[in-house]
Amino acid sequence: MALPTANLIVVTFGPRPNTAWIASLGADVLDERGLMRVEPTFEVVDHPGVFAIGDITDCNEQKQAQKYPVHVAVAAPNIVSYLEGRPLTKPYKGSMEIILIPIGKNRGVAYYDESFTAFVASNDSLRGLLCDMRTRTSRIYGKDQ
Ligand SMILES: Cc1cc2nc3c(=O)[nH]c(=O)nc-3n(C[C@H](O)[C@H](O)[C@H](O)COP(=O)(O)OP(=O)(O)OC[C@H]3O[C@@H](n4cnc5c(N)ncnc54)[C@H](O)[C@@H]3O)c2cc1C
Repeated sequence: MALPTANLIVVTFGPRPNTAWIASLGADVLDERGLMRVEPTFEVVDHPGVFAIGDITDCNEQKQAQKYPVHVAVAAPNIVSYLEGRPLTKPYKGSMEIILIPIGKNRGVAYYDESFTAFVASNDSLRGLLCDMRTRTSRIYGKDQ
């Protein structure tokens, strides 16, 4: 398909996982979107000893690089447990959902979920920073934003 001429193109569809070859593990390995079906331990469903993390998994969350240190922190001890013949006990409970979009030099918008709000509320320094940002925003726009 030819793209029309434009000054800026913002791609808003998600990438498609290149997972067709993984189906050789078994028909049930992928879901209907081509994502790998994983347990909360990141072990592939019905495939003991096979682990997957990152965009490729069917975790119900935004696909973001910032999630993957948390995936690793769960998968790594489970892999060690598997190798030592112990049960896999560490479950993934999800990560904060945060999206930051800079607009120009000094502006931007942010989306965050309630887990981020709770994290900020539990931390005095962060709470102060957020209040300060809110005050500055009000000052710039002349009303409570
Ligand atoms: C435009 C864009 C902007 C983004 N911005 C952000 C952001 O600001 N913050 C954020 O947290 N996340 C962002 N992300 C998401 C982030 O890039 C991904 O979540 C992250 O890269 C996923 O890491 P991954 O290792 O799981 O997969 P990938 O980074 O996709 O790595 C998969 C690798 O596997 C390789 N591969 C594929 N098929 C095969 C095969 N058959 N054999 C061997 N190798 C293969 C690929 O070439 C690739 O190198 C953005 C993504 C895009 C597309």
